[in-house]
Amino acid sequence: MSPTNDARRKLPSVGSLLETGGVQALLEQSPRSVVVDAIRRTIDAARLEPSGAPSTDEQWVRAVSDAVAQTNTPSLRRVINATGVVLHTNLGRAPLAQAALDAIVRVAQGFSNLEYDLESGARGSRYVHCSQLLRELTGAEDALVVNNGAAALVLVLNTIADGRDAVVSRGELVEIGGSFRVPDIMRKSGARLVEVGTTNRTHVEDYERAVSAETGAILKVHRSNFALSGFVAEASIAALAALGAPRGIPVIHDLGSGLLVSLADYGLDGEPTAREALRAGATIVTMSGDKLLGGPQAGIILGSRSLLDGVRKNPLTRSYRVDKLTLAALEATLALYRDPARAVREIPVLAQLTEPVAALRDRAERLRAVIGDPRVDVIETSASVGGGAFPTAEIPSVGIAIGGRADTVGQRLRRNDPPIIGRIADGRVILDLRTIAAREDFEVAAAVRTSIE
Ligand SMILES: *Cc1c(COP(=O)(O)O)cnc(C)c1O
Repeated sequence: MSPTNDARRKLPSVGSLLETGGVQALLEQSPRSVVVDAIRRTIDAARLEPSGAPSTDEQWVRAVSDAVAQTNTPSLRRVINATGVVLHTNLGRAPLAQAALDAIVRVAQGFSNLEYDLESGARGSRYVHCSQLLRELTGAEDALVVNNGAAALVLVLNTIADGRDAVVSRGELVEIGGSFRVPDIMRKSGARLVEVGTTNRTHVEDYERAVSAETGAILKVHRSNFALSGFVAEASIAALAALGAPRGIPVIHDLGSGLLVSLADYGLDGEPTAREALRAGATIVTMSGDKLLGGPQAGIILGSRSLLDGVRKNPLTRSYRVDKLTLAALEATLALYRDPARAVREIPVLAQLTEPVAALRDRAERLRAVIGDPRVDVIETSASVGGGAFPTAEIPSVGIAIGGRADTVGQRLRRNDPPIIGRIADGRVILDLRTIAAREDFEVAAAVRTSIE
């Protein structure tokens, strides 16, 4: 008789497993359907892989219990970002400040004045809520919050350039990730894409030749995850504004990451803040709420009142509207910027980007001591901003490098609760301290100890 047949003969039935004491205990915690389904999956797994099948009652109960736990694990979970990429789009971009979390809880627990004017006792607009703060922090005449950055750009283009020309440099027709390609987005907005210049060099004269009575907008796009260097030229916002203003053509600047305070003191230089972009002459600036701004997913439109009134009245805007939890979190995040030093301390992405290397090294050394395994080293690393901001910036950082088979260690860390996501370099798993919150250090130590081969 083959071993397979032998094992199959010994597989318990669903009914007999349901009778065992351990499984009965599971039934007190989880619905019967969940437990029965877990038993079936456990038996099926044992049939498919007889060599790893449970043999004692105790082992069967543990396997069923693991299967129940798997069913009960939510799909969307907290993970520990140990990649060193601060704004990691796959890992949910910006973690929220405590003030933002508190605001969400306050607004979510009950009713709110989302669309109610407390002064007049009449219907109000959800679009008023972050508007004043955004105007104050950026100098914009008016501000509007929508679902995300891509929606902000689509809505602006659709409002001012539907069926008309939108002029853009060939050097800025970039793909920003997943499904965001500037030319595709522009076409979907109804604007006619008019490309000017070349991949590496575009001059203001190129725009000048392309503008006409048909032009609805001049668009400038932050290249995000892509940088041009060498023999390059681009027209400044100021030059485009000088071209557009006398002809009544708005200049849209898709800024992307939404920087509100300069990080030049921390070595991150070369990206304009939203205020600087507006001051340079852009008629409209669009940006995300969950990149360098450090708030919830949102799209922010800044600019003139008359143009933003047009966007508010655009029926398409309803399909990209922002929800109350986002507004609550965004308002609380923005309020922190009234004291820039406080924003840098309390907004997690800014705190992570500016944490001194010496502090990271201390934490890494402590981690190594707690793990207490000679296969763990403290190493210098290079972290990055992510989210398309400061694409070439290398931020000095510190990590721990874990010996052993990198793919096995990496998989064990991903299977940890919470999962820990690192990166592999030179055949070792590296966990970068810059993106790990200090309060997570102990979880990381415990997981590394059990993940080393
Ligand atoms: C990220 C980005 C977007 C898209 O913003 P989402 O909030 O991800 O929709 C658009 N434009 C630029 C320049 C970006 O960097």
